[in-house]
Amino acid sequence: MIHTHQIVIVGAGTAGITVAAQLRKKDSKLDIVIIDPATTHYYQPAWTLVGAGTFDYEKTARPMASLIPKGVKWLKEFVTSFQPEANTIQLRNEATIKYEFLVVCPGIQLDLDGIEGLKETMGKNNVCSNYVNSNYTWEVLQKFKGGNALFTQPATPIKCGGAPQKIMYLADDYFQKQNIKDKTNVVFATPGSVIFGVADFAKTLMEVVDRKNINLKFFHKLVKIDGPNKMAYYEITIPDDSEKSVEYNHIDAVNVQELGPKSIAIPFDMLHLAPPQSAPDFIKNSPLSHQEGAKKGWLNVDHATLQHKQYSNIYGLGDCAALPTAKTGAAVRKQAPVVVQQILNSLQNTTTELTYKGYSSCPLVTGYGKMVLAEFGYNNVRMSDPIISKFIDTSKESYSMWVLKKYGLPFLYWQLMLKGKI
Ligand SMILES: Cc1cc2nc3c(=O)[nH]c(=O)nc-3n(C[C@H](O)[C@H](O)[C@H](O)COP(=O)(O)OP(=O)(O)OC[C@H]3O[C@@H](n4cnc5c(N)ncnc54)[C@H](O)[C@@H]3O)c2cc1C
Repeated sequence: MIHTHQIVIVGAGTAGITVAAQLRKKDSKLDIVIIDPATTHYYQPAWTLVGAGTFDYEKTARPMASLIPKGVKWLKEFVTSFQPEANTIQLRNEATIKYEFLVVCPGIQLDLDGIEGLKETMGKNNVCSNYVNSNYTWEVLQKFKGGNALFTQPATPIKCGGAPQKIMYLADDYFQKQNIKDKTNVVFATPGSVIFGVADFAKTLMEVVDRKNINLKFFHKLVKIDGPNKMAYYEITIPDDSEKSVEYNHIDAVNVQELGPKSIAIPFDMLHLAPPQSAPDFIKNSPLSHQEGAKKGWLNVDHATLQHKQYSNIYGLGDCAALPTAKTGAAVRKQAPVVVQQILNSLQNTTTELTYKGYSSCPLVTGYGKMVLAEFGYNNVRMSDPIISKFIDTSKESYSMWVLKKYGLPFLYWQLMLKGKI
C-alpha cells in the first residue's frame, strides 16, 4: 500500500523538528509527515557538560512524542531506501511513502568499527566518549588519579568539531580542582594541523593551551586502541615537505613509544575520543549521496539553497549534508529557514530569496564558567551575531558565554527552535 503526503521529513532530530515546526507555523494546512524510529530526542550539545559533571543527562532527553509539532503526523519507523525517480521512499516495515517534497535530515552515524579495538573497549578500560555515553565520561574523570589523560578525534568529519577539545579543557579544570594536575599530563592528539580553523579563535585557544600546559600532537591519526593495555596507536600523517610542527608543548613524561618512522603508541590512563563518523548507511547507499570524490557518501545538496543537485523536490540539511562547514545544531538553525522558504516558494509560486552562507557556531567551553563563542561561515570567515558582538568580544573567554551555554542555549533549543519560533 502506498501512502502519499505533501511533505515528508526523514529524521526528527534538530533539523527535522525545526523544519516541521517552521513549515506548520507558516501554513497550518500543509500535510506533513515526519519519520523517525526514535522514542527519545536528545539535546546533544549539553552532553559536553554532562561529561564534566555539570549538567543532568536526564535533562538532555525528552520524549519524541512531546516534540512533534501539532498537526504533523509522526511515523515511528526506519527509512531504508529512496526511489527519487518515483518520488517514493521505503520503510523497514515495507510500507512505501510517496511525496511531493522530501526533506532529508537523519543526522550522522557513529562508526565504532572504524578504528581497530574501539568497539570492544568503548565504555570500558577508561575509554570514554561524550558522543556515546557522557555519563561514563564523568565516571572516568572522577576515578582518574593522575597519569596520561589523552583526548583525541578521528580523521573523518564529525559533528561539533570542537567537542573533543571542550571536554579536555573542562577535565583539566576538574583535575586542578582535585589537586591532581601536577601528576597529570593532558595530551590532545589530532589529525589536523591547527587547534581550530578560524584564526581569531585559534589564538585564544592557544593561550588556553599554554595556560593549562597541554601537550598538542598534530597530524596524529588514531588507528588502533588496545583498551586492556591502555595504549592508543597513531600514524603520523605529516607530509615530508611540510614546515608545520607535529608537536607543541612537549612533555617527556607522556612516554610516547616510537614504533617506526611514522608510527607511535601513546600510553593512557584515560582516553576520551570522538569516534569516526559518516553519513548514515542508507544515505551512503542511495542515489541521493555524492557517488565519487572527497564528499562521497554525504547528501548531495547545493551549498546555498540546500536543494538536492539532481532532484529538485528534495532538500537536505543537518549533519548528513555535504556542506563545507561545521556540523552543528547552530548550523541547522540557519539552514532550516532556507529549506522552509524554498518549499514555500515552490508551493506558493513565490520567489523570496533566502540562502545559507555556511553559518555554524561552536561554543568552546574552556573551563567551568568560561567560554569562547566561535561563529563562522563558509571558508572559515568569522560571522558574529550582530547583537551579542555589540556587547562582547566572543573570541575571548567569558563568564556570560558560559551562562549562555549552560542555561540560555538549552532554553532557546527546547522553547524556541524546536517550536519554529527562531
Ligand atoms: C557531544 C556533542 C556535543 C555537541 N555540541 C554541540 C554544540 O555545542 N553546539 C551545537 O550547535 N551542536 C552541537 N552538537 C551537534 C548537534 O547535536 C548536531 O549537529 C545536530 O543535532 C544535528 O541535527 P540533525 O537533525 O542533523 O541530526 P540529529 O539531531 O542527530 O537527528 C537525526 C535524527 O534522524 C533519525 N534517523 C536516523 N536514521 C534514520 C532512519 N533510517 N529513518 C528515520 N529517521 C532516522 C535519528 O533517530 C535522529 O532522531 C554536539 C553533538 C554532540 C554529540
